[in-house]
Amino acid sequence: MGIPHELIDADAAKVVRRLRNAGHTAYLVGGCVRDLLLGRTPKDFDVATSATPQETKDIFRNCRIIGRRFRLCHIFFGSKIIETSTFRSNPRENGPDEDGELLIRRDNVFGTAEEDARRRDFTMNGLFYDLEADSVIDYVGGIEDLVARLVRTIGEPVTRFREDPVRILRAIKFAARLDFGTEPATYAAMLATRTEISKCAPPRVLEEFYRLFRSGAARRSLELMVETGVLAVLFPELATLLGAEAPTQLEAPPPDAPPDAPPAPPPASPRLQRLLALMELCDGLARARPAALSNAVVISVLALPFISDSIDPDAQHVRDAGRAIEDFLAPFLTRLRISRRDSERAKQALLAQRRLAPSRRGKRMRPQAMAQRDYYLDALVVRELAILEALAAGAPTAVPTPPGAPPSPTLPEELEGLRRLHEVGLAQQPSQSSGGYGGYGGGGHQGHGGSGAGGGSGGSGPSGPSDPDAPRRRRRRGGRRRRGPAEGGDRITFAG
Ligand code: ATP
Ligand code: MG
Repeated sequence: MGIPHELIDADAAKVVRRLRNAGHTAYLVGGCVRDLLLGRTPKDFDVATSATPQETKDIFRNCRIIGRRFRLCHIFFGSKIIETSTFRSNPRENGPDEDGELLIRRDNVFGTAEEDARRRDFTMNGLFYDLEADSVIDYVGGIEDLVARLVRTIGEPVTRFREDPVRILRAIKFAARLDFGTEPATYAAMLATRTEISKCAPPRVLEEFYRLFRSGAARRSLELMVETGVLAVLFPELATLLGAEAPTQLEAPPPDAPPDAPPAPPPASPRLQRLLALMELCDGLARARPAALSNAVVISVLALPFISDSIDPDAQHVRDAGRAIEDFLAPFLTRLRISRRDSERAKQALLAQRRLAPSRRGKRMRPQAMAQRDYYLDALVVRELAILEALAAGAPTAVPTPPGAPPSPTLPEELEGLRRLHEVGLAQQPSQSSGGYGGYGGGGHQGHGGSGAGGGSGGSGPSGPSDPDAPRRRRRRGGRRRRGPAEGGDRITFAG
């Protein structure tokens, strides 16, 4: 297991070099070292250093100190950020606070490199890479677990999950994304502590929730969330609809008696099977076009198995469809605290399916008619996933239309048209490169210390937390909206 040097980001290497030249210790750290050792291209590069934030800022002109409780440096290279943090220790190193509380709310105690490795979550994430010596520094047994393909907490797992229960979702994410097993004591501790997720700051939980579904391993993530009973804790309403309440045989064993192997999950209900199949389609999309999976798309896909009858184009009452969708989305707002903006967008994207899907009454589909709407791209992606689902299920490729009506396009034709429209729409979107739209965002900067630290950037969509209705235009009463230049420019019609 070696480090492929060609995958190391040149700017990250520059940051390390300059810190060292100024007399500080500096290493690449965390997810990037893990990914490099696995031969994967890291999403982003983090640096850990003995330099304090102020000392780092004094070295780099392109540096901004962020965070109040948890101060670290963002060093900018164009739109790229190299996150650079000072070695810290685990504030719970000497046990719980005077109230017996393990949950970490402050995480800003500077420490040594070894302490910094030990405060991290999983052994595979606790590795440093020393660029100068070209060697990996392993204080936590991370290399061994990478070789064994195991997710294992650093230190005692129940304690580590209680310090920060968001780590339970992260364990699921890494097991799913890397196709790793979970070390038995770590797995048992996930079951034992899963109810503590509700103590965490909701934006952090929501952000990890979205990440699970965008990770390219959404299917496995959902399976693991069901298997561990985490879904039932996080979102009992959805778990109930899926017949995936935390099953009794998965009840947590006493912490001193970890099972040798996780118990076998019960068979999936038809709805859960359908959702898992949809997640697999999302995974295909995440790999091919990660920008397609916005928050609203994730929410819409979770809704699809439950509201597909309401959004059938031949269903009668749009108002009933709207109500069915709102009823389904209500617990997303209260439980997961998704933003109103994402919820409204998901609702509109789902309602738009009534206009996008071919109708047996032979109505024409004109996706561009909604090109100015903020949910337009999301609606296209949801339709795309619905077509892929229908094709996978062996549905007839064309919807029969009444005699005299123009024939509907076949599903593969429609799919191709949708993809082209999405590409054009994405290219025209001014804010698409500003992050948030399907990207993971700068996860680390929220401060992973605990429920209170950072955690303000939950659920970002393409253009930040603006009024959900702001970008929309009102349709003139009783009249057709005229096609604007953006819609007319690259027109693709499916039917007629
Ligand atoms: P990804 O590839 O999804 O970005 P990552 O491991 O880089 O995975 P980040 O959220 O970017 O995850 O965090 C960077 C590093 O910070 C992690 O590798 C880990 O060492 C540490 N870290 C992140 N979250 C936590 C946490 N909740 N508790 C302890 N350490 C954490
Ligand atoms: Mg990262």
